[in-house]
Amino acid sequence: AKQLGGNLVRHFVEQMALDYQRQVQLRNALQLALDKGELEVFYQPIYDTKTREIVALESLVRWREDGEFISPAEFIPIAENTGQIIPLGEQVLELVLRDIYQHPVLQQLQIGVNVSAQQLQRYDFASLIQARLAHHQINASNLTLELTEGVFVGEGKATVASLQALQDLGCSVAIDDFGTGFSSLSYLNRLPADVIKIDRAFTAGLNEDPELQAVVRGIIELCDYLGKTVVVEGVETAEQCEIFSQLGVQRLQGFYFARPMPLADVLKLLNS
Ligand code: C2E
Ligand code: CA
Ligand code: CA
Ligand code: CA
Repeated sequence: AKQLGGNLVRHFVEQMALDYQRQVQLRNALQLALDKGELEVFYQPIYDTKTREIVALESLVRWREDGEFISPAEFIPIAENTGQIIPLGEQVLELVLRDIYQHPVLQQLQIGVNVSAQQLQRYDFASLIQARLAHHQINASNLTLELTEGVFVGEGKATVASLQALQDLGCSVAIDDFGTGFSSLSYLNRLPADVIKIDRAFTAGLNEDPELQAVVRGIIELCDYLGKTVVVEGVETAEQCEIFSQLGVQRLQGFYFARPMPLADVLKLLNS
């Protein structure tokens, strides 16, 4: 037993060392990519449930190392730890605004950009957005800023104020991954948010789980009452599509409709 325990500990320590090595490697490689401006942006269409037309796009950062994509699920948390999320966020914003400026068809849609809580805390985020929008001559109403529920933990007054400032500019604010965090439904009405994005976890479990359906129905009714737009993420099947249509969700996003894709492919979709 002692031997087994020793092996386990050694295995664990080795694994930690490997993970750490990989993280240091990724952090350094990411810094090079940031310095050289190598990050790219893909877009995933978001559809109106009734008309089945594209009404919005979510921008998603992409990082290609030696021809292979590294998952944001792996490098975003590292960038959050190292503070690299700040320049990363700025670069993504520039790429997106440039795309919108160059392609008027994108000016008809709401374009979502993911924002880290750190970006709100680090500086006057609304002023940055205002300046970058002006620089690229883009309307604020063109932009939706997506923040995860986590930023609202503790109901930070400063957070609420900076989201309010974004809304005052004319941008939309979306709460991302809704349902996974610590929020309770009761504070939905106090959040300066226009859009609620129901997390993929709900979508995946919905058909077999009547209780989950009841929770989602509750969220949708409340959002309806509060005048917030509901988007469901991670729609992968016709069946899920059907369920959410019947529940009255306004917008759907997921592989069933379209995967995240390069701008050129989105433009083809929009023009077809
Ligand atoms: P997210 O904001 O929740 O973005 C949606 C993620 O779900 C994307 O993963 C997308 O590819 C994936 N997805 C969309 N539809 C489906 C589906 O039907 N099934 C499944 N299984 N997945 C689907 P991605 O691009 O790997 O991004 C992962 C996360 O990384 C994002 O989650 C977001 O939190 C973060 N992220 C991505 N781009 C940025 C960025 O520019 N800035 C920041 N701060 N975070 C970003
Ligand atoms: Ca998002
Ligand atoms: Ca999400
Ligand atoms: Ca997520």
